[in-house]
Amino acid sequence: MEKRELVIIGAGPAGLTAAIYGRRSGLDVLIIEKGLPGGQINTTDEIENWPGVQHASGQELGDMFRKHAEKFKPEFRDAEVQGLELKDGKKIVVTDKGSIEASAVLLATGASFRKQGCPGEAGFTGRGVSYCAVCDGAFFEDQDVAVIGGGNTAVEEGVYLTRFASKVYIIHRRDSFRADKVAIERALGDPKVQPIWDSVVEEIRGTEMVETLLLKNVKTGELSELPVSGVFVFIGNEPNVGFLKPLIDSGVLKTARGGWIKVNDRMETSIEGVFAAGDLIEKYLRQVVTATGDGATAAMAAYAYISEQVHLEGKLLEPEEVSAVFYSSVDQAQVRLAGEIEGAPQWNRVVLVDGYKNSRMAEKLQVQSLPCALKIKKGTVTKRLEISSATDLQSL
Ligand code: NAP
Repeated sequence: MEKRELVIIGAGPAGLTAAIYGRRSGLDVLIIEKGLPGGQINTTDEIENWPGVQHASGQELGDMFRKHAEKFKPEFRDAEVQGLELKDGKKIVVTDKGSIEASAVLLATGASFRKQGCPGEAGFTGRGVSYCAVCDGAFFEDQDVAVIGGGNTAVEEGVYLTRFASKVYIIHRRDSFRADKVAIERALGDPKVQPIWDSVVEEIRGTEMVETLLLKNVKTGELSELPVSGVFVFIGNEPNVGFLKPLIDSGVLKTARGGWIKVNDRMETSIEGVFAAGDLIEKYLRQVVTATGDGATAAMAAYAYISEQVHLEGKLLEPEEVSAVFYSSVDQAQVRLAGEIEGAPQWNRVVLVDGYKNSRMAEKLQVQSLPCALKIKKGTVTKRLEISSATDLQSL
């Protein structure tokens, strides 16, 4: 089976940044993407909050990220990832073009637009129902359209649609938007934008194409029909984690409410050696600028994991027999003890492990407290000792 160091799934801002950082650290990086590289950024018309670039379209910024990553020569592969399998501590990325064993995996598949779920939505998708103003806005030249939602996407994309449409209704289930103040002011100040408050879409109706929306006022219960040729659904996102379903359902890969992947501040998921970055993780702010930061952190953490953990496995778990001492690098007495062992010729075969930094390995070998000496035979601990000085090693 093909073996790689870092396999990144997804080539959006998080994945591409991780590829840059991974390659600059000297890792072998394979980045897998299906379809158009760049991810969701391609569907954004204007990005004006990426520092250093006052204005760019999502596609322009995505292209710049891609070219930047290419400079460091990761391998890009156009394939569809079908699953992630864990076998005997190995991580296997299953794709439609074969399986790859990875030392570390980075999940960076981003998020997709949430569906509203009312009758007519699925049937009229591509025939008046859209999730991308940049992609489909131009089809509605001089026509009336509706946007559903009240967040930044609904409000900003609603204003974008006024370039084409004669009227843009923004249908929101509350009586105020939750978008940024500047975006709200821009929308409400636009004569082509008309909010419809306290309302939900009960049904999308038409024959060949969308013709009307059946609206319900959530306060009065009153029903009304709104004639429009198009409806843009911008009611938030959901993580692209379908290929991880067996791991999520079994509780091995931990997720938060809404299905977002849980990570720690090193972007480590609940699976050792599997990292996640960008829009699919549980986080406060889903933006290009935060996705790239996540990608950088994840790549550096993956680098540390590969160089420390995988290297340690080779030193501790693979030999016929090995003696090891786990100590804490943040405890002065234990640092001195480690120095004492390192300096004594009779202990030069003892493997010293910083158990504070390599807590996963310490956990794996059930080291409860530091310092601790272990005798390990073919990966199995046969003896463990609490030690306070180098001479205690004689009883190992
Ligand atoms: P969002 O902030 O989660 O807003 C979703 C909106 O859809 C809310 O107004 C919500 O209503 C409404 N909604 C949810 N489910 C609904 C349903 N079933 N029926 C009707 N309405 C429903 O999503 P977003 O606007 O896509 O933004 C996602 C993230 O990206 C946010 O963090 C946002 O700030 C960020 N973003 C930032 C920018 C920017 O900075 N320029 C641009 C775009 C997006 P309630 O208000 O009642 O919950």
